[in-house]
Amino acid sequence: MQKLEQIYEGKAKKVYATDDPELVIVDYKDDATALDGLKKGTIVGKGVINNQMTNRLMVKMEKAGIPTHFVKELSQRETLVKKVSIVPLEVIIRNISAGHFASRYGVEEGIVFDQPTIEFSYKNDDLHDPLLNEYHALALKLATREEIDLIKKYAFGVNEVLKAFWAECGVTLVDFKLEFGKTADGTIVLADEISPDTCRLWDSKTHEKLDKDRFRRDMGGVEDAYAEIMKRLLDHDAD
Ligand code: ADP
Ligand code: UDP
Repeated sequence: MQKLEQIYEGKAKKVYATDDPELVIVDYKDDATALDGLKKGTIVGKGVINNQMTNRLMVKMEKAGIPTHFVKELSQRETLVKKVSIVPLEVIIRNISAGHFASRYGVEEGIVFDQPTIEFSYKNDDLHDPLLNEYHALALKLATREEIDLIKKYAFGVNEVLKAFWAECGVTLVDFKLEFGKTADGTIVLADEISPDTCRLWDSKTHEKLDKDRFRRDMGGVEDAYAEIMKRLLDHDAD
């Protein structure tokens, strides 16, 4: 397998073609953005952590019967994945109020929900990823009814697996964002990443933030938080 030209550079990752049209390589950067791209910075070592964490968590999803794009970790920052056409929906699951849920609905952070919530944003930077519901997604032909139902089933499944694993690590899974894609044969798979960039993770005892909110909110200790969450994962991940 040969790495070919870069086909995309995003805010946190680069994507490269390979000599297999059904496979691409993702390369995780240390670049960090927040506040709809207005805030830019670097989190030293983040790319390595997000790559390795995503891959270990993707393997857990596969074991739980949730198909993913993961193929093979190639290096500290690079992973071979199935090339997908990304369903342009950001799928957000929440167990506890935080971030935009708290600000949008005027509630404090930290309210534990009786059951998880799901919401969708239209993945479109020019429009600033507007919130939409399933009917809007259908009207815009972003996905079919069957695809949305499958995505919801998988997303809640990811929540159960992730919540249980992080609990073993003494970490509370507050909320997270997923992206799904379609492989060449039309199969829906979990794609993109599962990392402290895309999840809110709080120490279960102290509620200390161990995720990108430390960067978003200028709290300091960003690199240490990423290192701590990776250490917890490695301490509890048998593979
Ligand atoms: P953004 O595009 O939001 O700046 P990134 O910097 O993370 O995000 O760039 C990675 C891009 O690759 C994202 O647009 C993501 O949707 C896309 N992507 C993730 N997994 C795959 C995949 N398996 N195949 C093709 N594209 C993917
Ligand atoms: N999230 C993400 N990318 C986005 C928006 C949100 O990874 O473009 C994640 C975020 O890290 C958090 C969850 O989705 O874990 C819910 O985010 P929220 O809607 O509260 O928005 P935020 O305050 O993160 O912008």
